[in-house]
Amino acid sequence: TLLFNLKLGNTVPTTIIAGNWKMNGSLALAKELTSAIEQNDLSSDALQVVICPPYVYLSQLQSLTEKTRISIGAQNSHTHVSGAYTGEVSAKMLQEFGIEYCIVGHSERREYFQESSEELRAKLRNTLDHQITPIFCFGESLEQREAGKHEETVILQLEEGLAELSLEEITTCVLAYEPIWAIGTGKVATPEQANQMHLSIRRFLNTRVGNENSQKISILYGGSVNGKNAHELLSQPEINGALVGGASLQAENFNQIIQSAQSLL
Ligand code: PEP
Repeated sequence: TLLFNLKLGNTVPTTIIAGNWKMNGSLALAKELTSAIEQNDLSSDALQVVICPPYVYLSQLQSLTEKTRISIGAQNSHTHVSGAYTGEVSAKMLQEFGIEYCIVGHSERREYFQESSEELRAKLRNTLDHQITPIFCFGESLEQREAGKHEETVILQLEEGLAELSLEEITTCVLAYEPIWAIGTGKVATPEQANQMHLSIRRFLNTRVGNENSQKISILYGGSVNGKNAHELLSQPEINGALVGGASLQAENFNQIIQSAQSLL
């Protein structure tokens, strides 16, 4: 994929605005959203817009965005490449369809599907082995933040998730810091809270891949991002984009986020 191949030649992170539809959307909404997003000038390589719909819409979204610079991602993939896992989809299948991104370790998957760090390592391995850029998610609960354990929680999730990846593989990943208390709640982290955490993440990455490579890694913020708060969040020096849930289902709202990102390139 473009990002996958370009990454090691980058000197600054690509700004990424990724929409996570979760279990929402429809054939009609896919058409409406893509035609609205296409109205933006997406010609800059410095900005990448990604849409992550439920599996069944991936093919339709690919056709709809074929002649655009919008990329398509899946929301999950299985730990195995094939086998007797009824209901599951593998990274190999996503690769066959030319899917460029895959969310790994979203907090809803960690919570409702009990995804462990071990499983997430397997998912990261499979996506990378199939040339799919993982969007690796992590973040603390409200309880952990209130106990002052947010930084150690996040760094531990990163340490565990990235443990078996090479320097090049880590540099290829897209990371998404998503404090659980800010997801779908309307309670957005302050730009300072988010930037502070991103700085800690960058420092951790320095120890794994060195300063120069860590500067190439896109670290997204996620949690109640919308057209109104995007500009201030994206203005923070360590925030390289956003993973957007609810607002990615509203054309105008999502476009405002894209336009905020563009104005800051
Ligand atoms: C998400 O699903 O990753 C997310 C951040 O959701 P929301 O923007 O709705 O908080």
